[in-house]
Amino acid sequence: MKIKSFGKKVLFFGILLSLLLPAAVGARAEAAGFQKVKNGTVYIQKNGTRKKGWLRVGRRQYYFNRKGIMQTGWVRLNGKWRYFSRKSGFLVKNKTIGGKKIDKNGVLKGKFVVVIDPGHSGVTAGGVEPLGPGSSSMKSKDTSGTQGRYTGVPEYKTTLTIAKKLKKELTSRGYKVILTRTNHKKPLSCKERAMVANKAKADLLIRLHCNGSESSSAHGAMTICTTKNSPYVPELYQKSYRLSQKVLDSYVKATGARKEYIWETDSMSGNNWSKVPTTLIEMGYMTNPAEDQKMQKTSYQKKMVEGLADGIDAYFTNLKP
Ligand SMILES: [Zn+2]
Repeated sequence: MKIKSFGKKVLFFGILLSLLLPAAVGARAEAAGFQKVKNGTVYIQKNGTRKKGWLRVGRRQYYFNRKGIMQTGWVRLNGKWRYFSRKSGFLVKNKTIGGKKIDKNGVLKGKFVVVIDPGHSGVTAGGVEPLGPGSSSMKSKDTSGTQGRYTGVPEYKTTLTIAKKLKKELTSRGYKVILTRTNHKKPLSCKERAMVANKAKADLLIRLHCNGSESSSAHGAMTICTTKNSPYVPELYQKSYRLSQKVLDSYVKATGARKEYIWETDSMSGNNWSKVPTTLIEMGYMTNPAEDQKMQKTSYQKKMVEGLADGIDAYFTNLKP
């Protein structure tokens, strides 16, 4: 008699709990025979294996990666971007998330747009322009950049080589890619480079550069973004910082280059004029013998491109609306 009423209580509270948590994947998945094992993200099926791939519970759809981790936020599956609720992991359909439209099947309409700016050019833009919108301080429109102390290859050639390869890689990963220049004859000011991204309403701008130092021992990679107190784009700080972080981390992981740091500064006109999340990467020192020579090798360039593309993927995967 006592056992029976205890069972009823459990059933009652069970129903109450599932009513209180209608959106939680936990209650739904557990009701469907899954067992949660870690932070509400990994599920084990009745047969003891981790759930991988799609899971449908009622009307909701969830997705688990190869490790059985439930995916949240933006995820690219078979070349299509989808958005899974950050709170409970279900596939979002027919909604606009962070200005991006998602169709009735839960697929991003159109593509994420990436603008790549290959730093400098064969013809340097002369004269000056404001450091940022509304600024009275003027800065050179562009500089000639550095060059390989050992290979003799100019920075502007290296940045365009990498930009073209990165465009190919990102296009194959499903992005729409625009280059600010495709040859060495076009002079471009830093402001004009940013305007390409603004006009395209890009989702991000990545500026490619190589570093130079008086000391030949200086080596490694760094990224540059605006500060949280930027007089021009304070609202972009978090996204630009995270983009700088993801790109730098992935780049050093892929290339094995020394990780310098993320430089937060409001002294870069190309970053200041951009109305979209922006990072500038110094991919290596052309004044360092090993790095100068490596950056001209096809095998190393492949790693550079992979690192940059992985960083961009990681940025979108972590993008918060
Ligand atoms: Zn440069």
